[in-house]
Amino acid sequence: MNDRNIIQTTCPYCGVGCGISALVNEQDHQVKILGDKSHPANFGKLCSKGSALGETVELKGRLLQPKLYGRDAGWAEALDLVAGSFINTIEKYGPDAVAIYGSGQLLTEDYYVANKLMKGFIGSGNMDTNSRLCMSSSVAGHKRAFGSDTVPGCYDDYEQAGMIILIGSNTAWCHPVSFQRIRAAKEANPALKIVVIDPRRTSSCDIADLHLPLAIGSDTILFNGLLFFLSQQNALNQAYIDAHTEGFSEALNAATISCNTLEQVAAQCKLDIDDLQCFYQWFASHEKVMSLYSQGVNQSSSGTDKVNAIINCHLATGRIGNPGTGPFSLTGQPNAMGGREVGGLSNQLAAHMDFSRTDDIERVAQFWGADNIASKPGLAAVELFDAIYDGKVKAVWIMGTNPVVSLPDADKAIQALQRCDFVVVSDCIAKTDTTALAHVLLPALGWSEKDGTVTNSERCISRQRALFHPAGDAKPDWWIISEVARRMGFEQAFHYRNASEIFREHAALSGFENNAGQRLRDFDISTLAKISQHDYDHLQPVQWPVNQAYPQGRARLFDDGQFFTASGKAQFIAIEPRPPVNLPDKNYPLILNTGRLRDQWHTMTRTAIAAKLNQHRPEPFVEVHPIDAQRYALLPNTLAVIESQWGSMIARVQITDSQQQGNLFVPMHWTGQYASRGRMGALVNPVVDPVSRQPESKHTPVLIKAYRPVWQGFILSRRELTVTDSEYWVKIKGEQFYRYELAGETLPEDWRSSVRKNLGIITAENAQWQEYQDPGKGNYRAALIVDNQLETVIFITAGNHLPERNWLTSLFVKPQIETRERMALLTGMPPLGVPDVGIIVCACFNVGEKTIRAAIKEKGLKTHQEVGICLKAGTNCGSCVPEIKALL
Ligand code: SF4
Repeated sequence: MNDRNIIQTTCPYCGVGCGISALVNEQDHQVKILGDKSHPANFGKLCSKGSALGETVELKGRLLQPKLYGRDAGWAEALDLVAGSFINTIEKYGPDAVAIYGSGQLLTEDYYVANKLMKGFIGSGNMDTNSRLCMSSSVAGHKRAFGSDTVPGCYDDYEQAGMIILIGSNTAWCHPVSFQRIRAAKEANPALKIVVIDPRRTSSCDIADLHLPLAIGSDTILFNGLLFFLSQQNALNQAYIDAHTEGFSEALNAATISCNTLEQVAAQCKLDIDDLQCFYQWFASHEKVMSLYSQGVNQSSSGTDKVNAIINCHLATGRIGNPGTGPFSLTGQPNAMGGREVGGLSNQLAAHMDFSRTDDIERVAQFWGADNIASKPGLAAVELFDAIYDGKVKAVWIMGTNPVVSLPDADKAIQALQRCDFVVVSDCIAKTDTTALAHVLLPALGWSEKDGTVTNSERCISRQRALFHPAGDAKPDWWIISEVARRMGFEQAFHYRNASEIFREHAALSGFENNAGQRLRDFDISTLAKISQHDYDHLQPVQWPVNQAYPQGRARLFDDGQFFTASGKAQFIAIEPRPPVNLPDKNYPLILNTGRLRDQWHTMTRTAIAAKLNQHRPEPFVEVHPIDAQRYALLPNTLAVIESQWGSMIARVQITDSQQQGNLFVPMHWTGQYASRGRMGALVNPVVDPVSRQPESKHTPVLIKAYRPVWQGFILSRRELTVTDSEYWVKIKGEQFYRYELAGETLPEDWRSSVRKNLGIITAENAQWQEYQDPGKGNYRAALIVDNQLETVIFITAGNHLPERNWLTSLFVKPQIETRERMALLTGMPPLGVPDVGIIVCACFNVGEKTIRAAIKEKGLKTHQEVGICLKAGTNCGSCVPEIKALL
C-alpha cells in the first residue's frame, strides 16, 4: 500500500465525528483503519468501535439486490413499483397517507433529497427520523432559548473550561474520544472540576470530582435549584441578563416556587445535601463552565424543559459563547446534526427553517420551485408508527434504520408494519428485524462506499468518502430517492448526477434570503454554494456557519450576545418541574433505564460483525442493585424476565451497586437477529415530551423476576448454526467461532439427536466426537474435532454449573489442538499451566480481566499507565481505562 490508497473519511458511529485515515486494499476488499491526525474532532484518536471498522466491511450479510415481495428484481422494476405505489396511495388517500422515516446514518445529501421529496413535492410533513428518539429535545430547547437550533460551543472548549458537567451522559462509553480529550484536559489541569450527574455510577465517574446520582427525571428540579441558588449567592451576571436576554424574572419565579431550599432540592433529587451544595458552589465560583448533556436529558417526557433548565443557568451567568463555556448537546448519531440542517424532523422544513413561519414556507417553496409544499408539520416518530398501526399512513419508506427494535413499544411497531399496505426499506444489511417486514427492499451503500458529508456535535461538516466501489447493485440513497421522485413526476427538481450537486443546492438554500435585509438564520453555509467538484472532493472539516462573515467557519456562536429570536435576545424559559408520566406502582415497582454499551452501536447490524467488539458484553444483561436482587431472588449471572405493561425481555443478571435501588438498566442494542428475547424497545414507555415529541426511553415502570429454565447451556461452533427453537438464545460472533448461549423449558429425550441433528452439525468422515451424558442430572457435554481442529463444543445442564467460555473459545484460533487440551475439553477448564485470560477488557489488544488481575497482583501495578506498560491494555483507544482502574 502507498499514500494513494489512503483515504480520509469519517467514522459512521457516534456524534463525535472522528476523522479516519483509511488504508484501502480494493483488490482484497480490506481496509486498515487509523485515526486522522489532522481531523479536529479526534486528532488521530479512535475508540474501540472506530478502530474495528475494518472488520465490518465484509460483504457477507449485505443486501446486494432489490427485492420485491421476497424475490430478486432489477432497479427499474423496483423503482417503478415504489413510485407507482406512492402515487396510487396519494391519489386515493392524500399525501399524508405516505411517510418517510430516515436516520442519523444518512448523509446530509441523502437526507436533503428525502426531505425535499416528502415536504416539497409530495406535500406532506411526514418525513421524520430516528434522531427524534435521540436529540429532538435538544433541538426544541435550543429553539426556545436561542430562536435557532444552535450548538454554541466546540470541542476546543474542553481544554479551556474550569468546570465540565456531564449530565445524563456516559461520555466514557457513548462519546469515548471526547471523553479521552476531557480526561487529558483534566490530567493537564488537575484544577479542572468534573461533575457527573447521572442516576448510575458509570465509567464516566472515573474522572469525576463529584458524582450526583440524582433520581431519574429530577433534572429540572436540580437546575431550577441551581438558578435559585445563583440568585441567592449574587452569582448572576445581571449585566448580561439585562443586555442579552428576556424572561429572567419569570424563570427565577418558577425556580423559586419549586426549588427554594437546598433541603427541598436534595430531597426531591434524592441527593446528599453536601454534595448538592458543593456542585452549586462550584458552578457559582467557576467562570468557565461547560454543561455537556445527552440522552439522559433528552429521552424524557420533560426533555425539552430539562434542556432549557440547563440553558437558563448558563444565560443567568452569561456563560455562553465564550471559550470554555456553554451548554453543549452531545449528539448520538454521526449525522444527527446534518439531518437537523436539512429538516429531517417532521416539524422542520429545511435549512433551519420550519413550519411555524409562513415566510419560511414560501421561501423554501420558491427556492425549490415547489407548488405543492407541505404547510404543516408531519407526524413525529412514535405518532407516525401509531398512524401506520391505525391504518392512516398506508405506505412508508424506512431508510437506514431499524425502528421495530429502537422505537418504544417496539412490538406495536412490528404490528404496525405487519398491518401496513406497503413497506419499503432501504438498507445496506439484508437481514434486520425491520427488513423482515418489508414488501420492497432497496440495497443502499454501506459506510465504506458512501460519498457525501456529515456534521458532528460541534457543527463541523466533514466529508465521508467512498473507500470501495458499491457492493453488488447497491446505490447511494440520494440516487434511489431521486429516481423514485423522477418517476413520480418531479423530474426537474431531482435531476442530480452526484452528491456535490445536492450539497451545492443545500448550501445555496442555507444562504437564500439569509442576509442583513432579511430574517437572519444561524445555519448558513452559502460560501460553499459554488464549491467545485474538486473542492468538494477535497473539502476539509469546517464548522458552520461558513458565509461571507465567516468564510473559514466559526468555532463559537453567541459570543456577541446576539441570538436568532425576533428581539435578538436569548429567552429564559420558566420551568415547572413535572414528574415522569408513568410512575412505578405495585404491579411495576421498578424503573427501567436504557442506554448504550462501549463496544456496540445501535442495533448491532455492523458492530456485531466485528468479533472483538462482542467480547466486552456478549449477552443482553440487566443491572440490578444488590438489595433489589435479594428482594426479587435474583442471583448473579442467572436469567431474569423484565416486564412492563408494553412488553418483556430476558436478560442476564448483573448485580451492582452502581445502580440505584429501585432502578434497573438494560442496554439498547440487541435485536431478534442476535437474541430471542433481548429487544429492550419492546418494554419502553411510548409516552413523549409534549414539545419535542421525543419518547421517555429512560423511565419505564417494570417488574423483574427470575427466569428459571429447565436447562441451560452453550454451543461454540466454527460454523454458523440455526439456533432459534429454544426459549432463550443469544448468538455471538467470535474470532473464528460462533457462540450460542441457550436455555429452554423442555428437556429433550435425547440430547445427542436433539442437539446434533436439529442444529445440523455435520459429522465429516474424519470427525471425532467426544461425549459425556448424564441423563439423571440432565448433563450433556460434547466436542467435535475435525482434522485435529476444534469444530464444535456443546455444554448443556439441567443444573446451574457451566464452565467459563474464554479458554474454550481460545482453542478456535489454534491451527491444531494439543492432546492435553483435547483431554481437558469436556471439563471446560484449561489444563494445568495453561492460562485463562478471563472476560476481555481491552478489545484493542485482547487483554482479559484475569490477565490484568494477575499482573496487578504479581507485579504490584498501581496505575492504569503501569498496566498499559506491562500489558498494552488501555494504550490504544483508552475506552477500557475506567474498567482497568476499577480492577486496580
Ligand atoms: Fe467513532 Fe468512536 Fe470517534 Fe465516536 S468516538 S466517532 S464511535 S471513533
